[in-house]
Amino acid sequence: MASSTSLSQGALHDLGVKALAQALRNKQVSAVEVAQHFLDRAAAHTNLGAFVDVRTEVTLAQAAAADARIAQGSAGALEGVPIAHKDIFATKDFVTTAGSRMLAGYRSPFDATVVHRLAQAGMVTLGKLSCDEFAMGSSNENTATTAVGHSSLQPVRNPWSTDRIPGGSSGGSAAAVAARITPAATGTDTGGSIRQPAAFCGITGIKPTYGRASRYGMVAFASSLDQAGPMARSAEDCALLLSALCGPDLDRDATSLDRPEEDFARDLDRAVHGLRIGVPQEFFGEGLSDDVRKAVHAALAQLEALGAILVPIRLPRTELSIPVYYTIAPAEASSNLSRFDGVRYGHRAAQYTDLADMYQQTRAQGFGDEVKRRIMIGTYVLSHGYYDAYYLQAQKIRRMVADDFQDAFRHCDVIAGPVAPTVAWKLGEKSDDPVANYLADIFTLPASLAGLPGMSLPVGFASATADAGLPIGMQLIGNYFQEARLLNLAHRFQQATDFHAAKPAGF
Ligand code: GLN
Repeated sequence: MASSTSLSQGALHDLGVKALAQALRNKQVSAVEVAQHFLDRAAAHTNLGAFVDVRTEVTLAQAAAADARIAQGSAGALEGVPIAHKDIFATKDFVTTAGSRMLAGYRSPFDATVVHRLAQAGMVTLGKLSCDEFAMGSSNENTATTAVGHSSLQPVRNPWSTDRIPGGSSGGSAAAVAARITPAATGTDTGGSIRQPAAFCGITGIKPTYGRASRYGMVAFASSLDQAGPMARSAEDCALLLSALCGPDLDRDATSLDRPEEDFARDLDRAVHGLRIGVPQEFFGEGLSDDVRKAVHAALAQLEALGAILVPIRLPRTELSIPVYYTIAPAEASSNLSRFDGVRYGHRAAQYTDLADMYQQTRAQGFGDEVKRRIMIGTYVLSHGYYDAYYLQAQKIRRMVADDFQDAFRHCDVIAGPVAPTVAWKLGEKSDDPVANYLADIFTLPASLAGLPGMSLPVGFASATADAGLPIGMQLIGNYFQEARLLNLAHRFQQATDFHAAKPAGF
């Protein structure tokens, strides 16, 4: 079908979500052809280690069903467009491992709501993408799931420089989108896991307001923070994906918000003239690399050129977000992960003496170091005698962090700053130093603690010799339910610049 049209196969992977949806609807290419093209790319780039499960027959069957719907005139909004899912979402047709030995080879009996909603919109699943174990990490190095095409554990590599991490915990998602192995991927963001890998891989990603996306079928890490969102190359594509992904799921997720579905693409072209952009002083302090500072400043100047007004603001509790998050998230994780007991799910130790020993052996074998560290911290901060000093104190400061944002939003409409203090670091560089990883989350944690929507978009490349050419992201944070506003601002920026269109060499 495609060969008789102007769409050449070689260009298919350069098309984004919107362009592919159009080409499919216009029957310039079939969903099966598109799926096969991206599957071939996945097979050609197994060195990146992005995919942990690919099932050609499943993907091609979904694509054939999409073609049938297009032929019948009953196509969904994103009919036939491929997507790949972070391996933290339950999927019945692919494994669901959450990057853990605990769930090695696990098959879920159901699809997560997010997976289901995207399938309802017509999207075709290419497979599952590597992530940090139970989404705990910033580099995708905390994983125990073997990547497709490898027989032993391999790190996910950043397509911009394969000796660098892709970021985490949605590292496989970011790497696969940047390398054009998929036009779109899902991610989850508990403390930055959509925004930071998007920044490190030069793509666009958004975490909606807490409660907008259903957590049903998302393997739980820290339930009061976990939120799903899309990762793609442009804000426009993210808007289309977010519209399909979000919506109430009141029967299945107790924290799902009872708000109608929204068309997040509705305001993309709106002028940003007069929009007040808050620039938090605390996001530009020491520790921020010169490359990131320069690129974010240049992007802010670009927003000014589009008519936005820069307003200096304060987010005084920014630094405290680190100890607060690394108290609350482990506390919730220690509770959530108690379900992995060798009885209900996944791995069970082969040898044990009694029930207590079975739990102990199972959990000792099934969990990796970072997960164990967090279970121990979480159990400690929740234990009698320490609860008031740590957990309760953290909850109080969490509220203050949220209040600081409300103060700031009296003076501005959107907040802008860096996503991370540096560009992607080298594989192994921080793998023995958990605290160094935690500190690098400083700019993403505040919005997570407050439950606010946040996004990352590419705004430049490093020029410092050691890091030259590595992508830099800018973060936009909005008040509750202001996703359309963030996407509008990002889209206007992307219409005026081409950082989001840049391609890593060799892809
Ligand atoms: N890097 C943070 C952590 O390790 C955030 C992870 C996430 O958002 N899932 O917890």
